[in-house]
Amino acid sequence: MPVLEVTDLTKSYVSPEGERNIIVNVPRFVLEDGQQVALRGPSGSGKTTLLHLIAGILQPDSGEVRIADAPFSLLPEAMRDRARATLLGYVFQTFNLLQGYTALENVMLGMLFGPGIHRGHAEELLVRVGLKDRLNYRPRQLSVGQQQRVAVARALANHPKLVLADEPTGNLDQKNAKEALTLIREVCREQRAALLLVSHDPAVLGQFEKVQDLTAINQTGGKDVLVIGH
Ligand code: ADP
Ligand code: MG
Repeated sequence: MPVLEVTDLTKSYVSPEGERNIIVNVPRFVLEDGQQVALRGPSGSGKTTLLHLIAGILQPDSGEVRIADAPFSLLPEAMRDRARATLLGYVFQTFNLLQGYTALENVMLGMLFGPGIHRGHAEELLVRVGLKDRLNYRPRQLSVGQQQRVAVARALANHPKLVLADEPTGNLDQKNAKEALTLIREVCREQRAALLLVSHDPAVLGQFEKVQDLTAINQTGGKDVLVIGH
């Protein structure tokens, strides 16, 4: 069963000059349960916009996003927020941790809108990502590599079906980047979550067996949509 089904998804922005630019135009994109796929695209090609649309952070102009067979993008906002918390995990390039809270609290806060707060599970995840001795540290007391590990633990906190990762290693040095990527892939596999990662970095993309070019699925700029099957 597909964990993610994107159909006829479009999003345009109006530029400061008043021009409407189509940024996302994806006729069809499907991710199977448990699959790990990397989307390759240069800076400005719409990777973040596409992930925001999939996560329901942005509303599409048209089209549909189904997650685990639920019409995610068509849900009313409150239901979508709740569904997002239980179905999706999101790993940001800039981590997006809450600075006033500890590592453990950041992961537990991620559980707030999900199935419920389980301190034990939050601790287990942090131990799994190698932060056994850092549970009570705040983000600024952690290295950037450790901060991203907290973000990975938080993304998995509610047993999501799908993890979205937006250039998750873009702010890490080479060694930390490699370790973080291996960790994300292993933890997603262990927790049976599919992984959709976007990146422009050949070193990151090279670690995936399945890499797709964003340009192959995203046909921006055109009004006549050409459907590419998968
Ligand atoms: P990527 O993540 O691949 O670097 P983005 O999805 O962030 O690309 O951006 C794709 C394009 O959309 C860029 O050209 C950017 O300038 C444009 N864009 C993004 N957000 C907005 C916005 N709120 N208003 C206008 N243009 C935007
Ligand atoms: Mg981006």
